[in-house]
This record gives sequence, C-alpha cells and structure tokens, in this order.
Amino acid sequence: MAKEYTQEYHAVGNKMEGENVRFDYVYGFAYNKVLYTGQTEFQKIELFDTPFFGKLLKLDGQFQTSEKDEFFYHEPQTQVPMCAHPRPESVLIIGGGDGGILKNVLMHKTVKRAVMVEIDPGVVEFSMKYLTSVCGEAFKDKRTQLIIGDGKRFVEETQEKFDVIILDLTDPIGPSKALYTREFYKKLSGLLKKGGLLQLHIELCVTRPEISRQIFQSLSSVFKYNCPFASYVPLYGGLMAFCTNSQDLDVSKVKAGVIEKRLKDRGVKNLKLYNGQWHEASFKLPNFLKKLYI
Ligand code: SAM
Repeated sequence: MAKEYTQEYHAVGNKMEGENVRFDYVYGFAYNKVLYTGQTEFQKIELFDTPFFGKLLKLDGQFQTSEKDEFFYHEPQTQVPMCAHPRPESVLIIGGGDGGILKNVLMHKTVKRAVMVEIDPGVVEFSMKYLTSVCGEAFKDKRTQLIIGDGKRFVEETQEKFDVIILDLTDPIGPSKALYTREFYKKLSGLLKKGGLLQLHIELCVTRPEISRQIFQSLSSVFKYNCPFASYVPLYGGLMAFCTNSQDLDVSKVKAGVIEKRLKDRGVKNLKLYNGQWHEASFKLPNFLKKLYI
C-alpha cells in the first residue's frame, strides 16, 4: 500500500514592517510524522520526519536545518571565511544552536578555540539528541567553549578578540532582531583581530530582497570590504545570500589554488559543496545581485 504523507506549507515574505510579514512566495514539503513539538524558554521547537530532508528542525515556525540539506547552508557560511583567513585560530559563533557551523569550524586543525554563544540551551540539547548528523561530535570537542547567553550581551562585555566571527542567527525577528543592526556590527568589528572576518547570512535575496539589501547596507557602512555571494539552500526555498566582511581583507580575491591548499594542509575532507573553484566563482555576482547590493 502506498505510504501516506501530510503536506505542510511554509510561507516566506519579502516585506517586513514591525513584526508583520507579507507572504508573496510559498513553498512546502511533505512529512510523514511530527517527531517532537515543545516550547523552550525562548521559542517553539518542532521536529518533522520528512522523506526529502530527513529530520527537519523548525524554531518558532521558521525552518532552521535538516539532516539531508544542512551542508547547503553550513558549508558556505563557514568554509568561506575559514578558508579565506590565512590562519584562523580563534573563532566566535553567535547562535548556531544546531551545531552545524561549529562542526565545520572544527574541521580546521588551525583552530585552537571555538566559542559559541547560544541563547537557548534547549536547542543545543535537542540537537545533541536528535540531530547528531548535523552537529557530529562538535559539542564534545575540547576546543569548544559553549556559553549559554545572549550574543549581544556577550559582545558588549567580552575583552577577547577573534580571527573569525560567524553569526548563525534566526531571522531578524524575536531574540535575534537586535543583532542585525549597524551598532552591533560596529561592536563586532572591534572584536576582530587584524585581518579578521565577520561572516553572516543576509537573508533570501530573491524572495526577501529588501531585507537583504538593508542588512548589506548596514554592513557596508561599517566594514571596508563587504563580499556578498549567494547559494541555493533547498530548505529555505531559494537563493540564500551571505556576506563576508572585513576591515583589511578582500576575500573575493583569494584564488582557488590557495583555498585548495588550505583545505589540504588543515585536513578538511569530505565537503559536499565547497571547494576552491566554487569560492572564486561565488563572488562573480549575477546582474540582479550587483544591482541589489552595489
Ligand atoms: N541556519 C539557521 C537559519 O539561518 O535559519 C540558524 C540556525 S541556529 C539554530 C539559530 C540560533 O540562533 C537559534 O538556536 C537561536 O536560539 C539562536 N539565537 C537567536 N537569538 C540569539 C541571541 N540573541 N543570542 C544568541 N543566540 C541567539
């Protein structure tokens, strides 16, 4: 007998006024079971069992990650700044509770210390239990320091500086809203060592271009070099834009051969998306993105 699936649809909008989102574009997925649904102190957690994505995590109704497509997001978001930096030893991740970014950071044997500041311990516990293919052994690695707290507060109080900072936050509503501001990017700039890089996603550039442009403009008012690029993420329903920012390093100029050598020297293997040629090509933007950002 044919297996029955329930159809679930998720909507994304391209206008955000206050907390109101207008939905202009809709995509969906099928699932056969809701494995978990609960509420942490900060957000609603849901886990779906799906034929296409495997286990799929939602927070407050927003897609976060899934077993089968996590690399489409985590590799560009992590490997671009890690490989563009000549020797990343200290890394700060803000958010990232599912552990996918941390796992990719720790692949680089140059890394001596990876600090992750996540507001919601419930997401970390949940991922260690149900999403082990996303986080691997990252939370048990002795280079990892997990701090449970607000990323904004940590940035205001810490004296430490980092080679690479990665923001892996929920969309700019709820607890992460204050972390998508020019003021916050200025503080982050002050936490970077010389040659340091700030990496973040700048939203869905086809379905939410106005929000993406706003984030890019805030970044470009703070950093000398802003290198946007976009990559397809099935779970997010389209092209996700990212931006690597620095006061002294233009990551779009790092050549494929340099990236390949760094991957080899640092023992980074078995990536599914990222390589040297992809790095070089990704900064050659299509016309609609040049127009959006420049
Ligand atoms: N890749 C995902 C995306 O772009 O949709 C992000 C995934 S990760 C699970 C997002 C994490 O950011 C969540 O676990 C959430 O708890 C965390 N977060 C939100 N606001 C935060 C804050 N102010 N400080 C630290 N972590 C925060």
